[in-house]
Amino acid sequence: MMRVVHKYGGTSMGSLERIRATAKIIKKDLLLGRKVAVVVSAMSGETNRLLGLAKEIDASPPCRELDALVSTGEQVSAALLAIELHHLGIKSYSYNGYQAGFRTDSSHARARIIDVQSDHLIAHIEVGEVPVVTGFQGSDKAGNITTLGRGGSDTSAVALAVAIKADVCNIYTDVDGIYTTDPRIVAQASKIDQISYEEMLEFASLGAKVLQTRSVEMAMRFNMPIHLRSSFEDVQGTMVTGEDTAMERAEITGVAYHRDEAKVTIQGIPDQPGIASRVLGPVADADINVDVIVQNVSEQDYTDITFTVPRDDYNATMKLLNTLCTELKAKKVKGDDTVAKVSIIGVGMRSHAGVARKMFDVLSKENINIQMITTSEIKVTVVVDEKYVELAVRALHTAFDLDAVS
Ligand code: ADP
Ligand code: ASP
Ligand code: MG
Repeated sequence: MMRVVHKYGGTSMGSLERIRATAKIIKKDLLLGRKVAVVVSAMSGETNRLLGLAKEIDASPPCRELDALVSTGEQVSAALLAIELHHLGIKSYSYNGYQAGFRTDSSHARARIIDVQSDHLIAHIEVGEVPVVTGFQGSDKAGNITTLGRGGSDTSAVALAVAIKADVCNIYTDVDGIYTTDPRIVAQASKIDQISYEEMLEFASLGAKVLQTRSVEMAMRFNMPIHLRSSFEDVQGTMVTGEDTAMERAEITGVAYHRDEAKVTIQGIPDQPGIASRVLGPVADADINVDVIVQNVSEQDYTDITFTVPRDDYNATMKLLNTLCTELKAKKVKGDDTVAKVSIIGVGMRSHAGVARKMFDVLSKENINIQMITTSEIKVTVVVDEKYVELAVRALHTAFDLDAVS
């Protein structure tokens, strides 16, 4: 008999009405004879609300307490869904991350899952009962509550699917599949029926927040199929699998964007071997993720290094660079926390230079200034002023023939 994990995101759990609709989807699968384990997110907006409360008290609260706080959002929705399932006559039990057996390391707010001890959950599903597990959280060796990073319930769902040896992980959300770009900003985005793990990984890591990147990495590693689908209508969504069935590919598969970026520059550093590592080393040591990096010779014997970091880490990065500026006898530090990343992705990119050139032409026709560029075999990314993101995404989507034919 088929084992499935259902994961419901914030909008699918956003109100009692939505929770009722969610319970009906679960009931339908049970009636088809499937064994179902469920992972839920907090009700939409709840995680942000809780973070806001903590930040009203202290701009940088202790991370252990933040995890204890934000993990409650998922506990509320898991219990409400279990209550609703009972109401429908289905035996259901809610479990928080610790109770469900999600063991993680101790990195608060970005914990990694070590394993999921799920025998008790399997015992429930074997007799037709439904365990409802809180996404996004686990506990470390010492029993501290940990969370997996924003959007982490996707990763919890895939981890649970792997642990209970499910046939598929159904991720229910507010869109009916993965689109060529975010359908919220491009109405003509087209739905993709099937996408390979590799390509989805690029999409997710470049900003398509529809699936947390780590969930795709884990699905790829354990070959767990993901069916991304809508909890609002019962239609086939997008299958993310190891298969690549496309006989011939379009030049570009999709356009992704990421808004919460910041750009920093340290200017006029004496140009010596090892300078990049002296600048970027302390940034890495502070656990700040550096993304796009450009190093340029400015005047003779001097160099500039510019790189992007997550916007949340902007202040910490500027502080670090100002200290380094004195230490390295550099000239100045500059920063901008209103930039964004726009990327075109395609494993079918034939002429890489040709695709990049076309991208730059399209942006220049829209008068969008490109601040930084980075490329790989299957993507071209540019950093632009945040206010041009939507315009850039729309223009690129049209220029690369991705608009749906209506
Ligand atoms: P959930 O709360 O269910 O986890 P998310 O808000 O995290 O949902 O992810 C779903 C959202 O992802 C969609 O509403 C959509 O705006 C956005 N999104 C971004 N890029 C894409 C894409 N390429 N395809 C589909 N949705 C996308
Ligand atoms: N509630 C968490 C968040 O808002 C986890 C999730 O929704 O996946 O990031
Ligand atoms: Mg999500």
